[in-house]
Amino acid sequence: MELVNTHCHSHFCGHGEGLVSEYAAAAADAGITTLAFTEHYPLTSAFDPDGYLSVPAVDMAAYEQAVLDARAAHTGMDVLLGIELDYLADTDDRDLDAADLARYDVILGSVHFVDRWPFDDPAQRGVWEEPGAVDRIWNRYVDLWCDAASDPTLPFQVMSHPDLAKKFAFYPSFPLDALYERMAEAASAGGRMVEVNTSGSYYACAEMFPAPDLLRAFCRAGVPCTVGTDAHSPVNVARDIHRAYALMREVGYRQVTVPMIGGDRRTVGLD
Ligand SMILES: [Zn+2]
Ligand SMILES: [Zn+2]
Repeated sequence: MELVNTHCHSHFCGHGEGLVSEYAAAAADAGITTLAFTEHYPLTSAFDPDGYLSVPAVDMAAYEQAVLDARAAHTGMDVLLGIELDYLADTDDRDLDAADLARYDVILGSVHFVDRWPFDDPAQRGVWEEPGAVDRIWNRYVDLWCDAASDPTLPFQVMSHPDLAKKFAFYPSFPLDALYERMAEAASAGGRMVEVNTSGSYYACAEMFPAPDLLRAFCRAGVPCTVGTDAHSPVNVARDIHRAYALMREVGYRQVTVPMIGGDRRTVGLD
């Protein structure tokens, strides 16, 4: 069946490598039919002092042109211009303008910050080991994630790596079921999609995002699902897409939902 990847980065963010054209060529070689570039939307220096986490604002025009050039070079593949946009709740110090965001084909909603702290940054991992931190961070993460997913005034179409809090394999002392139900209800209420993000298998958590039980909850709630590899290097552009499809099938999905150029969606049967 078709291979789709609706989450990928490039050298434009400080922690990615490879040209947009290299990702597009690798994707075409792998037989991908939809490739969405979703660079980390600029953060202010208060959140990203070293330009490591996001694309510097001055480079966004070049990023967008590179994606449009890749689209023109690969007529057999849908190349989407997208962004991954951090949800910062009431700490957001940017001037996000709906008209400015309208030109993107897809906007991923991500929670990488809990009260200004980038909880998935390996350089700051030590905070997780403080007494009581794990339960507190998980609860706060899920609160923020549900706010982001359920608020229809926010511009997100797809909520990315839904249980990113498990990245370093720190799990709370309480069962996760109730949190999973809240997340599924939030995504459904907000009309959002989720993604299976294959990169999770390569972190300490050693499984894709989301966990099978969370994906099952999304499926039960009727939340559409797409697939992203979250590649930060061209070699990973098609990594484990088949495994993501297998997980979707296992929990009950019968189709993968695919964002399109211009903002519509289509579906592809998971045969
Ligand atoms: Zn990244
Ligand atoms: Zn990403």
